[in-house]
Amino acid sequence: MNRVVENLRSRFFLGGPIRRFYKLKAAYSITTELSSALNLDDALKTFVNRIASYMSVEIVSVMLLDNEKKRLVIKMTRGLDEKALEGGDGPRLGEGVAGWVGKKGEPLLIRDITKDPRFSARSGKTYYNNSLLSVPLKSRDRVIGVVNINNKVSRDIFRAHDLDLLKTIVDMAVIAIEKIRTRDALDKLSRSNHEIMSNVSHEFKTPLTTIKEALLLMSDGMLGTVNEKQKKYLDLSVQNIERLNRLINSLLIMGEVESAKKSSVRNLFSITDTARTVIESLNIVAKEKGIVLKGVIPEKRVEIWGDPDKLNEVISNLVENAIKYNRTRGEVSVHLGETEKDITISVSDTGMGIPREEVGRIFDRFYRASTSSRSGIPGSGLGLSIVKDIIEMHKGQIKVESEPDKGSVFTVTLPKSLRR
Ligand code: ADP
Repeated sequence: MNRVVENLRSRFFLGGPIRRFYKLKAAYSITTELSSALNLDDALKTFVNRIASYMSVEIVSVMLLDNEKKRLVIKMTRGLDEKALEGGDGPRLGEGVAGWVGKKGEPLLIRDITKDPRFSARSGKTYYNNSLLSVPLKSRDRVIGVVNINNKVSRDIFRAHDLDLLKTIVDMAVIAIEKIRTRDALDKLSRSNHEIMSNVSHEFKTPLTTIKEALLLMSDGMLGTVNEKQKKYLDLSVQNIERLNRLINSLLIMGEVESAKKSSVRNLFSITDTARTVIESLNIVAKEKGIVLKGVIPEKRVEIWGDPDKLNEVISNLVENAIKYNRTRGEVSVHLGETEKDITISVSDTGMGIPREEVGRIFDRFYRASTSSRSGIPGSGLGLSIVKDIIEMHKGQIKVESEPDKGSVFTVTLPKSLRR
């Protein structure tokens, strides 16, 4: 019954405007589905399955070109033995039907392969008849692969309208496939960049610590007497090593934030506890500078969904800056409030403020306001860019109000119930 219906469909119904409509509908819906694929494998699986149903065939295979080896490699099949996928190397360009299509960049409609002098007949019992279709996947005139189909459900041989339909589907889908390939390649590249950055940063830390310890021993006179001038240079070296250490820590956190953007942690945790912990641990630093650090935190636990470590990083960074860019005997206060949907954290200080024309740039990587670098306060210009990335990861916002020589207020708003 199935076979009869298929025969009727391909011979009569798919003529003229109906066929054109069906062709575009098929190509359009396959392309839409492909564009939401998670990765290349996922995309190719959808691709072969949809070709099988729209073309009413039982066997579909997609081969991609390995440019270095000049061979086609089977990447996805339907209806063929799984072993076909394991084979690794497929036909060389020019070899067999797919190789011919790959080399010439032209489609092939074969009604009877035994009568085609270019090819030897196919072996095996997989095929109902000697007819097949093979179409190149071409992106910007370059062949990137080949799609082959065999065994119409109707047991009929392939005809010109089948070739036309397959070509339309393949020509539209190749754009989506290329996009996914590029996206996968860029993802891989940026992952390996971050891995390299993170490894190098870790590798730097151990020797730097050893150098710093040795310099401190020298500066303290533990390895023999040092005169004033020598001590001055030793202390300067220690300060610079500390600067390098801070920079490396920022690079490590940046790497973590980049990877967290792809698979971020989401826990329900108490942001009031986090704010209290930060204030407690930075109180010592504030006291050393004669700064009063106050917290206005609600008594009750306020919970939000998010990454606790990263949000700790946000509050710590803002409070550290508020201490660092403050005047002696200044004040820093941390307010935590909530609305029905959001929480707000604002960190205000009585420090040097930020020149009006520079406020818009302080979240840029490595940017430091002219006032702070002029006054010799150490910093890398990375902290606020990390803060902004983490807040964006949580779909929140950050605002700054600042008045030169009076102080600044940084206000963060975060949604409470963002579970993903
Ligand atoms: P840094 O390591 O330089 O502190 P950040 O990215 O944390 O880097 O900050 C970028 C710049 O923004 C700082 O160099 C400073 O000029 C300015 N800035 C940040 N916070 C404050 C603040 N509370 N008061 C004044 N200036 C600030």
